[in-house]
Amino acid sequence: MSGYTPGEQPPRASKVIKLNTNENPYPPSPKVAEAIRGALESGLQRYPDPHATAFRMQAAELLGVEPDWILCGNGSDDILTIVVRTFVDAGQVIRFAAPSYVLYDTLASLQGAMADVVRYEPDWTLGYRFAQTVDGLRLAILANPNSPSGTMLPPGEVAAIADALPCPLLVDEAYVDFAQTSCVDLVRTNERIMVSRTLSKSYALAGLRFGFIVAQPQVVEQLQKVKDSYNCDALSIAGATAAISDQDWLRANVARVRASRSRLSDELQQMGFGLSESEANFVWATHPTASHEELYLTLKAQGLLVRYMRFPHWGDGLRVSVGTDDQIDALLGLLRELV
Ligand SMILES: *Cc1c(COP(=O)(O)O)cnc(C)c1O
Repeated sequence: MSGYTPGEQPPRASKVIKLNTNENPYPPSPKVAEAIRGALESGLQRYPDPHATAFRMQAAELLGVEPDWILCGNGSDDILTIVVRTFVDAGQVIRFAAPSYVLYDTLASLQGAMADVVRYEPDWTLGYRFAQTVDGLRLAILANPNSPSGTMLPPGEVAAIADALPCPLLVDEAYVDFAQTSCVDLVRTNERIMVSRTLSKSYALAGLRFGFIVAQPQVVEQLQKVKDSYNCDALSIAGATAAISDQDWLRANVARVRASRSRLSDELQQMGFGLSESEANFVWATHPTASHEELYLTLKAQGLLVRYMRFPHWGDGLRVSVGTDDQIDALLGLLRELV
């Protein structure tokens, strides 16, 4: 098998402008560092809380569920691994859409499972095939908002897909805080819908590694059997709990990123790029004539990283994370000379 290749991470000290891995360009809530210092002072000689109870209580209150509807992970990649291992055996089938998060395919390979890939329509909607029954289908995964498009299926459509599917549906809401809607309320009435979230993007904590899933308690109980006992460490639990408790910070950050996203989108469109309707902290840009790969390489040579992506039977394009206004200006300045 081929392993998952994460986006390039230049050395921390380098001056490279990173618009390639959808990190938040702003620092997290100052309460995060404070909480981590507190956890450090109380010592690391003990094992952490295996259930991250402090975090679950905060997140439960925020989402209007009970804490036993939540399970925490070492990033939502860990959550994805746990879900795949819980529901899918070797030889069984996982369905996901493409182009989407490439890790789904890697997880299927690791599990010895078969990937049933349903291609998005050119306008990033999904045809009926995504909800169809096939032999051995045990799990479907849907990134919503999707990456790299940033587009979203409305909750009603997701509910209809879940009702038609013969298996559980994991809705990967890594970017949902930047969007207008969420599927988290569907979990309340549908045992087969699970929603995963991460603190990496909207809470600006990609380096902390913390994600979680919302599912009905009888589902969480099964997922718990599969996870590592101590999959979240004491420092990340403290930091993540502080982050999710600071909703004022989140609201301000999301407003800023959305405003920059709309400016970035407008200016790229004026330059002739085609853009999908992004509800996330990145945009997917394609140009009718310029070579995307050459644009990527030229930008890179000038110290600016975007993500060049090429998908089989689909085409290629540039995924650009929403940076600070200065970073966006630098990108637009360079692109103006190139296209
Ligand atoms: C970034 C991302 C994740 C993983 O987030 P982590 O919590 O950092 O592991 C999951 N799904 C999608 C679609 C993502 O883009």
